[in-house]
Amino acid sequence: MKFDTRAVHAGGEPDAETGAVAPPIHLSSTFRHSPEGPRGDELLYQRSDNPTQQRLETALAALDGAENALFFGSGIAACAAALQMLPGNGRLVVQTDCYNGFQAQVRHFAERWGWRVDWVDLADPAAAEAALREPAQLVWAETPSNPLLRLVDLPKLAELSHAAGALLLVDGTFATPALQQPLALGADVVLHSATKYMGGHSDVLGGVLCFAKDGTAAHNARVARELVGLHASPFAAWMVLRGLRSLGCRIERHSRNAAKVATFLESHPAVGAVHYPGLASSPWHELAKAQMRDFGGMLSIQLRGGKEAALKVAGALQLFVNATSLGGCESLVEWRRGVEGKTPRSPEDLLRISVGLEDPDDLIADLSQALDKVSA
Ligand code: PLP
Repeated sequence: MKFDTRAVHAGGEPDAETGAVAPPIHLSSTFRHSPEGPRGDELLYQRSDNPTQQRLETALAALDGAENALFFGSGIAACAAALQMLPGNGRLVVQTDCYNGFQAQVRHFAERWGWRVDWVDLADPAAAEAALREPAQLVWAETPSNPLLRLVDLPKLAELSHAAGALLLVDGTFATPALQQPLALGADVVLHSATKYMGGHSDVLGGVLCFAKDGTAAHNARVARELVGLHASPFAAWMVLRGLRSLGCRIERHSRNAAKVATFLESHPAVGAVHYPGLASSPWHELAKAQMRDFGGMLSIQLRGGKEAALKVAGALQLFVNATSLGGCESLVEWRRGVEGKTPRSPEDLLRISVGLEDPDDLIADLSQALDKVSA
C-alpha cells in the first residue's frame, strides 16, 4: 500500500465494540486484570500502555516502516528516552546543527552521566568520516536541519555509523515519514516531534521513536517512558492519530507553498540567502532529490540588512505570526536568535519560516510588503 493510503487507514480500524469509524479515546487510568496480575497482553495502567496509544503506534510503525514505534509526551521526551536506551558512558556523536533543545539536554544530562560527546558537522561527509573512524555507541543526526536546512547523506552516514559500532538515530521532524524514510535508508531509529506536522494544527504535543528492529534499544526506551514518566495522555495520542490521516496531503501542500515562497524570496533584493533544499540553487538540492520525496514546508532566509532588517521584516508581517514551532496550518516566522537562550547559534540576520496552508499568493503579498520596507 502507498504512503497516503497507509496514513489514512493504519491504526484506524472501526471500533470492534461499537463500529465507530473514528477511533475511540480510552481515558481510563487503570485496567481490569486477572487476579494474579496482567496475563498475556492484558493492560495494566495507562502509564505503561493504553489502547489509544496502541492504535497510534501501529500507525506510526506502518508509516516509518518500523518494527516498533513508541509515542511520548513530547519530542524532547522522545529525545530523553533515546538517551536512556543505551548502556551510557560510551561515545555519542551529535550533529552540530541539531535541535537546540536536544543540545541543551546533552549538555545538562549526557555529559554529566559520563557520555563522551563529540559535536560533529555530519552534513560534511569528510567530517563524518573522520569522526567515525573511532568507535561510538550512538550517532545523532538531523536532516533537514534546523534552521539552515542542511542535509545529511543518510545511506553514507548509516554505513559509517555501523562500521563504528554505533546506532544511527535520525531526527526527521522537518521531513516527516511522508517525505523521508530514514529506516529504509539504513538508520536504526527515527525521532519525530509529533507536535509539528504529525499533529499539524499547533494544538498538541507529542514525540515518536520508530525502531528498525524491535530489540534492546526499543525495550529500554519503553522502560524509560514508563519509569521516568515520559508518556503522553491518551487524548494527545488520539489527536496525533487524527493528524496522521491528513499528513500526506498537508505535506504536499506545505511543500508546494514553500517552493513558491522560496522562489519569490530568492528574487527579492532585500534577501541575501534563501535556505530551502527544493531550490535548484541549494547545495543540498541533489541530495534532497535522492533521499526525499519532496522538500517540505520549512525554509529560512538571511537579510542583506542584517539583524535590524530581520527584526523589521518579522515585525512588519501581518499574516505570518511571530511564534516558535512549525508544521501547523498557519504560517509562522521567527527570529531564531531570540529563542536560543544564552548560547545562540543562528546568524543574526536569519528568519526561520514555517510555510502554512494558506494561499501562497497571500503569503507572497505579505512577505513582499514587509521586505519592501527594508529594501534600499
Ligand atoms: N526535534 C526538532 C527538529 C524540533 O524542532 C523540536 C521542537 O521544536 C523537537 C525535536 C522537540 O519537540 P517538542 O517541542 O515536541 O518537545
